[in-house]
Amino acid sequence: MIRFFDSIVVGAGPIGGYLSKKLNDNGHSVLLLEEHDEIGRPFQCAGLVNPAAMETIGLESSILTSIWGANIHSPNGKRVSIGDPKVPRTFSVCRKIFDEAVVMQSIATGTEIMLSTKPVSASIENEYVEVNIDGPNGSETVRCKLLCGADGAHSWVRRKFRMGNPTETMIGFQIEVTGYSGDDGMLDMYTGESIAPGFFSWAIPTGETTRLGTWTKANLMGGTSSEEFMSRLIEDKNLNSRFADCSEVARFCGPVPSGIVRRPMRERVALFGDAAGICKPTTGGGIGPGFKQVDMLVPLLSNAISENDLSEVRMKALSSKLKQMKRDQRKKRALRDAFLTEMNDAELEDIFSVWARPEVTDLINEFGDIENPIPLGVKMLREVPEFRRLAGRAAKAILWS
Ligand SMILES: Cc1cc2nc3c(=O)[nH]c(=O)nc-3n(C[C@H](O)[C@H](O)[C@H](O)COP(=O)(O)OP(=O)(O)OC[C@H]3O[C@@H](n4cnc5c(N)ncnc54)[C@H](O)[C@@H]3O)c2cc1C
Repeated sequence: MIRFFDSIVVGAGPIGGYLSKKLNDNGHSVLLLEEHDEIGRPFQCAGLVNPAAMETIGLESSILTSIWGANIHSPNGKRVSIGDPKVPRTFSVCRKIFDEAVVMQSIATGTEIMLSTKPVSASIENEYVEVNIDGPNGSETVRCKLLCGADGAHSWVRRKFRMGNPTETMIGFQIEVTGYSGDDGMLDMYTGESIAPGFFSWAIPTGETTRLGTWTKANLMGGTSSEEFMSRLIEDKNLNSRFADCSEVARFCGPVPSGIVRRPMRERVALFGDAAGICKPTTGGGIGPGFKQVDMLVPLLSNAISENDLSEVRMKALSSKLKQMKRDQRKKRALRDAFLTEMNDAELEDIFSVWARPEVTDLINEFGDIENPIPLGVKMLREVPEFRRLAGRAAKAILWS
């Protein structure tokens, strides 16, 4: 007997789990495949989940620390502090607990999960997709109307069906430490060519420990390893007191794919989350945008599944719904490039001098949202005369990208 499901979802990360639950909620049967023997491992994340995404999933029990503010450090150690202790901006979570709970929610709504199991081949037929899977009990052939790839940055589904590549893939490297001397409820962001060329490093409080990380792009690394950037951060003379008592308890490294792929949906196949290149170019966050993508597409896909019309034409029409997300990513990337990635350290110091002025810090506090920096970017370009000179290219980027 060949088992038949409305959908097979490859990858039981947070997006695969959430997608499976949403498909169940719409009355569809789901088989969820996970190549590892447990959920939430290996861990490759700073674990920040914004309030909107947390509300979507309702997993407050996974929160380690609520974060209301940020200290942003210039390459020479100038500091600009933003935030309001009364307004939580983001939460750091235990990803293991978070991912497991998301997947448990899908199992509770009827998803069948197979651990230590992955697809080895798949073919698109007239009425279904046939998938051969390999697991602890051997091989099996299963069929579905819709095959979903929520299988992360190196997506097998994306490669198998030649659906393109994310516009850019950053490299994230992180260590978890005890003994970091940060400020309660605040994260730290560090900038500078020597520690995170074109991007930033971070220190995120996570209860007993702190996650120290750095991210950048391979073409900006100039032959230096991520580990070396991290060592430089910890040994930086301007910042050293914060790191003096740090003791490492774990380390992780992982890709951050950003920029939706050329063909996120095709006949009977759709990509979600990291597999589709959904991460934000400004923060690397992929959980919130992945949930949004699911919320946007599942109602439309649900109709198509019910009618068993998942033709190339229909899927192409549905994927046009992602155009706005794609445009938004492009604008954010252009803004990030103009204000950060394409700045040298001297230009960044100039920017920090302006940010440090009380009236500009007030502006940042009122309009600043790292999740959506465009309103603040536009406001600063309009109201801060120095930024007109510094960020002429940002204006162009926002207007034309
Ligand atoms: C250093 C770093 C820090 C980050 N910090 C944040 C942050 O603070 N906040 C945030 O929102 N995002 C962050 N991200 C991004 C975030 O981790 C991802 O966007 C998020 O995990 C994407 O979820 P996903 O379900 O799409 O993919 P994943 O979490 O990668 O899950 C994919 C799942 O698919 C499984 N899988 C893969 N291939 C197969 C296969 N062939 N068969 C079966 N199963 C398979 C994997 O084992 C995995 O369980 C960070 C990333 C990095 C690298």
